[in-house]
Amino acid sequence: MSRVPELFGSLSFNEAVMRDRLPKDIFRALKKTMEEGSPLAPGVANVVASVMKDWAIEHGATHFTHWFQPMTGVTAEKHDSFLSPTGDGAVIMEFSGKELTKGEPDASSFPSGGLRATFEARGYTAWDPTSYAFIKDKTLCIPTAFCSYTGEILDKKTPLLRSMDAISRQACRVLKLFGKDVRRVTTTVGAEQEYFLIDKEDYAKRLDLILSGRTLFGASSPKGQELEDHYFGSIRPRVKAFMDDLDEELWKLGVAAKTEHNEVAPCQHEMAPVFSTTNIATDHNQLAMEMMKKVAGRHGFVCLLHEKPFEGINGSGKHNNWSISTDTGENLLDPGKTPISNAQFLLFLTAVIKAVDEYQDLLRISVASAGNDHRLGANEAPPAIVSMYVGDDLDAVIESLVSGKDCEGCEDSAKTPLSVGASVLPPIPLDNSDRNRTSPFAFTGNKFEFRMPGSSFNIACTNIMLNTAVAEALRVFADELEGAGDFDTALAALVRRELRTHRRIIFNGNGYSKEWEEEAARRGLLNLRSTPDALPLYTSEKNVSLFTRHGVYTVEEMKSREEIGLEEYAKTIHIEAETMLRMIGRQILPACVEYSGKVASSAAAKAGIGIDAPAEKKLAGAISAKTEELIQAQEALQGKEQGTPEDVHLAAAYCRAEIIPAMEKARAAADELELLVGKENWPFPVYEDILFYV
Ligand code: ADP
Ligand code: MG
Repeated sequence: MSRVPELFGSLSFNEAVMRDRLPKDIFRALKKTMEEGSPLAPGVANVVASVMKDWAIEHGATHFTHWFQPMTGVTAEKHDSFLSPTGDGAVIMEFSGKELTKGEPDASSFPSGGLRATFEARGYTAWDPTSYAFIKDKTLCIPTAFCSYTGEILDKKTPLLRSMDAISRQACRVLKLFGKDVRRVTTTVGAEQEYFLIDKEDYAKRLDLILSGRTLFGASSPKGQELEDHYFGSIRPRVKAFMDDLDEELWKLGVAAKTEHNEVAPCQHEMAPVFSTTNIATDHNQLAMEMMKKVAGRHGFVCLLHEKPFEGINGSGKHNNWSISTDTGENLLDPGKTPISNAQFLLFLTAVIKAVDEYQDLLRISVASAGNDHRLGANEAPPAIVSMYVGDDLDAVIESLVSGKDCEGCEDSAKTPLSVGASVLPPIPLDNSDRNRTSPFAFTGNKFEFRMPGSSFNIACTNIMLNTAVAEALRVFADELEGAGDFDTALAALVRRELRTHRRIIFNGNGYSKEWEEEAARRGLLNLRSTPDALPLYTSEKNVSLFTRHGVYTVEEMKSREEIGLEEYAKTIHIEAETMLRMIGRQILPACVEYSGKVASSAAAKAGIGIDAPAEKKLAGAISAKTEELIQAQEALQGKEQGTPEDVHLAAAYCRAEIIPAMEKARAAADELELLVGKENWPFPVYEDILFYV
């Protein structure tokens, strides 16, 4: 595809377009706003809006929208056309600076977790000029933040931007101690996105997929992923056509989709973009998910982004690759070659280790949902326990620093024990080959890979937690080191002390094993198995003090997020339970009754002519007995459903303790029936139909 460079970003109002089209002084003013977050003067906004509108119209746009990320996790948009009547029956196309910078969507129907009563529905959206506007569906989309008029933030983007400011502030302080005058530090993210593609026809026949995004019934297919023949396998032509189309759509929007491959489970695939600044990576991941769904439709597929669409095979996650860079292009998590850069690296590494240990709960909360509960802790995804993998080489360095003994794995250091002092630390040899796939939070050479997020998640929340927690660790370090007499000595003492305290979070072994669960308990690490276990820790004193100190959330904003998370969990389980009841009552039971009736008739017919029918009797008997079990499970589930408490905290815990086990019972009976009832009589496509289409 020779035209990729022309295609890339062709629907994005990016810097090249701005430079090309905006008057020089306007471009400079906008660039300053983008870099420093300074407010945009109204005069400048008017010119930018007008130029943006002309560009958009040239590219086929008729409408514009403020594109934002409310707390539902998906993106929201309300389209307005550029059209403006001139009073003489004609129209002109208009777009003002005010329309560009501020919008007023009716905020009442977005979740606010009690932050804003419906009668105070007013909210507004404000342009985030650091993320480029783009054209989608003939609409100019302007990335925005979303707040209430009383100032509470109602979206995921604002706190993300605040957390980026927080880590930048603290990292700059630390860098100053190393003699570096850096104006801005940004966190970077590359989000690998997993997804399933299944045939639209199969999807349309399954109410569970339509309403809940996952299969609520289904016996395991005789073949699953055990042959490991799908991972990186050759891509089916139909899927390849989808991927090409997806790449093209994403490239046009300026999303640097880079890697596409088959994943472990049948029908499972992955897309990874080239990393970018965290807020842009977040916008782009939201766009990628939206485009995957849209493009799938054109190819006769449905794209499933649920964390666990099928039982018995892998679910889908999202790997949040994360690092910190300076505006001078230095990656602060890159060990580097000189002792001085290594001392700085070790300090930042120590900050991340401290942050992950002290805020394990927040990281777990950031990936908590009904869907992701099926992955975390199951035997495929990272466990629900947050721990870090640093690799054997780095672990040897840490061991040496903590114990003061020689570092066995380190070159040149056979004689001298390691010390962090700027002049003593030798180059850190790093071998990235032994990457640990079972670790939730792995160091991969020059970045960390957080593997717990679910495939359908907005990655903003994870990065808000991570940025703020690391900002806090850096703040504590800067406070201590700024007041120290001898920097080298103070630095060495700090690193040693912090690594000693937080080393328990490092685990290089098999995260899926039972032994690890026990070991983690001994180390005092949290094991928050489900969403209702995790979310109530959101507003603990320690976490409130973290977010308020760094100006990322107010306590009310945190409470609202906790509430929304629990409410969403309970609602999801409720929808799943009701869908199951519907499918049992209207599809599965009728099929079982009809089929066992046929078998019984056959037995009766044979008896009529004096032939014994042991097979029919046995089969009809087995189906009847299982059907009875299913009916009982159905009634039990119905009863549990009706008993759901009102209060969201209680409801979420009740769903986990009462409704989910009742759903599991019903499913077990139905899945056994699936294997007893003739294929022609089963009311919807089963796993081997869906997962192994040609
Ligand atoms: P994996 O081996 O985990 O599948 P991939 O190569 O598919 O790795 O994805 C790695 C991701 O990490 C890519 O999106 C890549 O752009 C991103 N990445 C690389 N360097 C950085 C960095 N410094 N900061 C953030 N993300 C990064
Ligand atoms: Mg990965």
